[in-house]
Amino acid sequence: MMYNAKSMKAEEFISHEEVEETLKYADKNAENEALISEILEKARLGRGLNHTEASVLLACEIPEVTKQIFDLAEQIKKDYYGNRIVIFAPLYLSNYCVNGCVYCPYHVKNKHIARKKLTQEEVAREVIALQDMGHKRLAIEAGEDEVNNPLEYILECIHTIYSIRHKNGAIRRVNVNIAATSVENYRRLKEAGIGTYILFQETYHKESYLKLHPTGPKHDYDYHTEAMDRAMAGGIDDVGLGVLYGLELYRYEFAALLMHAEHLEAVHGVGPHTISMPRIKRADDIDPSAFDNSISDEVFAKLCALVRISVPYTGMIISTRENQAVRERVIRYGVSQISGASRTSVGGYAEDERPHDTEQFDVSDQRTLDEVVRWLMQMGYIPSFCTACYRAGRTGDRFMELCKSKQMQNCCHPNALMTLKEFLLDYATEQTRAIGEKMIEAELRNIPGEMVRRLCAEHLEKIEQGIRDFRF
Ligand code: SAM
Repeated sequence: MMYNAKSMKAEEFISHEEVEETLKYADKNAENEALISEILEKARLGRGLNHTEASVLLACEIPEVTKQIFDLAEQIKKDYYGNRIVIFAPLYLSNYCVNGCVYCPYHVKNKHIARKKLTQEEVAREVIALQDMGHKRLAIEAGEDEVNNPLEYILECIHTIYSIRHKNGAIRRVNVNIAATSVENYRRLKEAGIGTYILFQETYHKESYLKLHPTGPKHDYDYHTEAMDRAMAGGIDDVGLGVLYGLELYRYEFAALLMHAEHLEAVHGVGPHTISMPRIKRADDIDPSAFDNSISDEVFAKLCALVRISVPYTGMIISTRENQAVRERVIRYGVSQISGASRTSVGGYAEDERPHDTEQFDVSDQRTLDEVVRWLMQMGYIPSFCTACYRAGRTGDRFMELCKSKQMQNCCHPNALMTLKEFLLDYATEQTRAIGEKMIEAELRNIPGEMVRRLCAEHLEKIEQGIRDFRF
């Protein structure tokens, strides 16, 4: 199929032939030092790389080049995102699902997993439990099932989530990870005030995709792959991409993922808001070793670094699928958002003990939110509960402009400090609060604009006095 980044047809903007050509070219040039230096030079400008250039770097195994890739990713991360890490939690609404995805425990043929769908009262209980930990930003998750989880149900849940005010708690941003749907439904999600619409491609390799999704509406590769275009047509301009690593060859996925980002930029003038980096995990009825394309921690770190270099303006997300050590490494190389204290079971947050009966996958990082916040600060990162951008209308290209103008330090930095302050006062242990207060004091000086710095200091005072929800 002819490759055309501007085409609206999945098979043309993710052309299989183009991916294969790219991989061949990358293999041929994997030791071409002159070309590799040129690509690294371009990457240093901080404006990204295309799928061909990035694929050459991925194929290259020269240790000195790998080191340069990691160093550069770290630098770009610092330049664009500073030392802030945004925190969120997934909220599982329902595990009813009609699809046959062979890697997912929610697949329709799994008869031994308990099926559950939250009532609105249960949603409220989950939200209160999440607020009581200190969360402000959620990603809602649901299986695909027109009967049990129709869009009306999802909308009702979003409404409930936003309406709950418990003590000083509030969920201020709801991102949505539900199956591909119609333009009209995306419009309704946008109207309900969602943040990012996230949909993992799982694999871009069509032949494998069809086998991995043998039954159900998700079997339709084109409908799934073209979902982000429909989301954009429905007015959602913050979309999140992702590949489930382990299903197919990672080099194929990486090239195609960047082609998808290039397509969004070419057609809509704005690339993906985020890229998630999930790896397949053990789960009920799922043995990850049944999928023979698993990648080592080393390759995974290099992939994260190359995503950072290739699309500097796109946030990168790592979940609790990864353990603390892996998270530590990839945060350094470019991850900007992490989940914390996640429970992947339906109704899991309201339970005292972590339940396993409806879980989507095993959680590797099982620490509390307070522990995650403290750990980030001890490594020199500012945990941020900021949700300001989309509430101030800074989505899509307006958000990208903010990134490109490097004004984030005058906006995201104070917002991070103010939301951290709220967390410290309302939810943190004494030990975490002590570390956090010191961090805020020191980081206040790193706000470049004098007026913003002064205003931020005033807001911090007011937060101390009990007022909440300031933002720039
Ligand atoms: N049902 C929605 C859809 O069709 O896109 C998305 C919600 S699903 C709860 C979220 C994501 O979890 C999936 O897109 C998939 O990539 C990931 N996932 C499924 N099984 C997994 C496993 N065994 N290990 C890790 N991640 C998994």
